[in-house]
Amino acid sequence: MRVVLFFVFIFGFSSFSFAQTEQKDRTNEFVFNNSLFILYHEIGHLLISELDIPILGREENVADNFATLELLKIESDEANNILIDSADGWFLSSVDQNDDIVSNEAFYAEHALDVQRAYQIVCLMIGKNKEAFKQVAVKLEIDELRQESCYYDYILAQESWEKVLKPHKKNVPSDLNIRAFYDRGTGSIAIRKLLQEGKLLENAINGVLREYNFPNKFNLRAKNCGEANAFYDGWVSELLFCYELAEYFEAIFNEDSLAIKLSDPIKTPQDIEKDIFQPKKKTSDNIKDNDD
Ligand SMILES: [Zn+2]
Repeated sequence: MRVVLFFVFIFGFSSFSFAQTEQKDRTNEFVFNNSLFILYHEIGHLLISELDIPILGREENVADNFATLELLKIESDEANNILIDSADGWFLSSVDQNDDIVSNEAFYAEHALDVQRAYQIVCLMIGKNKEAFKQVAVKLEIDELRQESCYYDYILAQESWEKVLKPHKKNVPSDLNIRAFYDRGTGSIAIRKLLQEGKLLENAINGVLREYNFPNKFNLRAKNCGEANAFYDGWVSELLFCYELAEYFEAIFNEDSLAIKLSDPIKTPQDIEKDIFQPKKKTSDNIKDNDD
């Protein structure tokens, strides 16, 4: 009898421990993917500023388009998942910030509403490859007509960015004198390690920046800034990614949210029926309690 109990205990413990590790890995992936999208958005600002690129329209939207297009260019499952997580990031933050009650401040802000930023990422994804992202369109109930017109949004954004960057493009990408710094920080060591070991900043240097000629020198830096944000500061020629922003992504991913999550599997009618009649205890609550 004791032996049986012993095995039950071990089995229970190891499956819980596995679920905990799996949840932690998934959280880290979400944090890194969202951080990368924001970094590419800032690279958009950096290119506009350093290469003196003309912008016709709201710069924040143009920078979001740049980030999305760069990731779409990669054409891998990994890059597509970064985009899906980034759209989810905006959906989660819109619920977190109570975007249902849209304030005047949100309407006159520099950025579009978080929900709109999520849908714009998705529109360009569908515009580039309607077949590949069919499930995304279904989940968000984007009608056929808009799915078709997203193709033109994608082409316009893609061709416009390509045209303005062309004069600055090297024939062959080569190393640049750009340095990536990860300052020590005052918050979570795990977050800094995640970004540094994943080579967040180097990813932008090697994936984008080394393709262009720049007239001036600049650096990329991750540090604590006192707010969950990222900036390109043209005055000091430095792009800053704040650790607080990655911590924010970790927090919204782990809180119970009513937001749509594209990365969740689509539920079949049988799943929905099961949920109604057999409500499950949330494993994320258990994991959070255990972490505390
Ligand atoms: Zn911006």
